[in-house]
Amino acid sequence: MKRYSRKREAILDAIRSTTIHPSAEWVYMKLKPDFPDLSLATVYRNIAEFIEDGTVVSVGSVAGQERYDGRTEAHSHFICDDCGSVTDIFGFDTRIENGEIGDMLGALVTRQSLSFHGKCKNCL
Ligand SMILES: [Zn+2]
Ligand SMILES: [Zn+2]
Repeated sequence: MKRYSRKREAILDAIRSTTIHPSAEWVYMKLKPDFPDLSLATVYRNIAEFIEDGTVVSVGSVAGQERYDGRTEAHSHFICDDCGSVTDIFGFDTRIENGEIGDMLGALVTRQSLSFHGKCKNCL
């Protein structure tokens, strides 16, 4: 049980340690040297639990791989369709923060997902 929870913590730390919005495979490769018995299935299972309790957010699928975000405050993303880089954008979310979208729809907004696509600086 202790080992399991150490892994769980390491998986969360790995996701929070970077702004690259990693895939499960990236987390697995990063932790494998420290946890030789770690399986990709364990990484996926823990990430699924983090998403369920709101600790981690899914950015969605980028080039066929689901990507994850340890930043849970409202923000948007720029996704490069060439290299798959995901960049955080802050400041597009005031309409959600002040309840404008919820009021407009007569709904309760609990999370948002806004993505911009194109070619990043490096790929241009
Ligand atoms: Zn790029
Ligand atoms: Zn993000």
